[in-house]
Amino acid sequence: MTSQLLLGAFFAFVVAAGSYALRFLTLSGAIATLLLGVVVFGAGGWQWAVPMVTFFLLSSLLSKYGRTPKKPYDEIFGKSLTRDWGQVAANGGIAGALVLLSTLYPIYDFYPIYLGALAAVTADTWGTEIGILTKGRTISVLSMQPVAPGTSGGISEHGTIAGATGALVIALSGYLWFSDLKTAIIVVLAGIAGSLGDSAIGASLQVQYCCDVCGKRTERTVHCGKQTMRISGVAWINNDVVNLLCSLVGALTAWGLLCVL
Ligand SMILES: [Zn+2]
Repeated sequence: MTSQLLLGAFFAFVVAAGSYALRFLTLSGAIATLLLGVVVFGAGGWQWAVPMVTFFLLSSLLSKYGRTPKKPYDEIFGKSLTRDWGQVAANGGIAGALVLLSTLYPIYDFYPIYLGALAAVTADTWGTEIGILTKGRTISVLSMQPVAPGTSGGISEHGTIAGATGALVIALSGYLWFSDLKTAIIVVLAGIAGSLGDSAIGASLQVQYCCDVCGKRTERTVHCGKQTMRISGVAWINNDVVNLLCSLVGALTAWGLLCVL
């Protein structure tokens, strides 16, 4: 146990320090990743670490891909692409808690639920990163009316396919440790449900601001060097809270499907 924790701490340090050097993470994001990594590698081991690292590395790379066409969206999105501790906790917090739960209650199989949580944040990230790069029509998941690409709650055909692909990749990354088709399908469905939940909350409850200076709608609290005004949504439901709920929906969907299927 002690040697696994030490090995876990070592691998977590390598991932956190490497991501900081590559500017995938801010310093607070690297520290949060180190803590999460010690839990996932140290308490869980490879079975839990491989899907987490798969999500983390592929999503970080996707965020960096196609930067020039994505530039305009930096003005809208609340966070920069170098992830801070809030983004790490929002994307990995539920998954980390499930690893701890599985060490406390080894009799229950938390693994498909864990993969469901990771599939959800992966589907959400891939859907957004690829959705805003493709020219297809974007509609609001709630009103079904056309919206501008990059709008919270907007979904597109390409983004949805990309999201489902991301969920499938997470299912495959853990397949060695569960090896049955039913669980794989549950993980993919959980991922799709989580990202749709994310879009629904993004279209309704997520806080939106307006910039007084340039008049743009944004998720940022400061724009053009000035404090922005809240125009809709709940004040504390920012992008991090929405992502946390996304992984919660993914975990609960996987749990529910496990119970009924
Ligand atoms: Zn502005």
